[in-house]
Amino acid sequence: MNTGITSVCVYCASSRRVDSLYHNAARELGTVLGTSGITVIYGGGGIGSMGALADGVLEKEGRIIGVIPRFMVDLEWAHPHLSELRIVDTMHERKQQMIEYVDAAIALPGGSGTFEELFEVLSLKRLGLFLKPIVIVNTNDYFESFLTLMDRCIRERFMDERHSNLFSVAKETADVLPAIRNAHPWTKEARSFAAV
Ligand code: AMP
Repeated sequence: MNTGITSVCVYCASSRRVDSLYHNAARELGTVLGTSGITVIYGGGGIGSMGALADGVLEKEGRIIGVIPRFMVDLEWAHPHLSELRIVDTMHERKQQMIEYVDAAIALPGGSGTFEELFEVLSLKRLGLFLKPIVIVNTNDYFESFLTLMDRCIRERFMDERHSNLFSVAKETADVLPAIRNAHPWTKEARSFAAV
């Protein structure tokens, strides 16, 4: 299937202990991306939603690339069957490489690691340093309080009203590709309203 999307970066949870519905959503997203021939770049982990995402892509014979710091490989946290594993020195380098050439960034429910990655890519986009769609997958309404926080942030003018277009929300994994295709266009000029 040709979607016009070549590769995406996915942020998601490493926890094994969350409700299985979160792992199922990650696996489902993996199968959607694998079936669509879209290369997935992610943090390289083998457990939790990260592992489920990778298993979903591989089940459909898709391509998935992990970008992981060496210390995590030493801890045996890397998924053993990825199409490619890129080993980097730092967490910072990992985040940079994960979004370098992708057509979109996608966040599934996760913990502080996922939030850190999501907030960094949102901040880069706000500054015109990342211009691609960012899609939040609101599985089980997990991101409701995040969305409320962002609304307040804009209402109280910590950010500009136009920043509500930094990201879009997909209710389920099936809505992710349409959300990427219909994303609000973004240009470098956006940095002119980064400081409000
Ligand atoms: P979290 O959402 O807090 O579970 O963190 C997930 C993010 O943190 C991933 O995208 C990774 O960058 C990193 N991370 C945390 N724990 C692991 C792990 N066991 N294996 C691989 N990456 C991890």
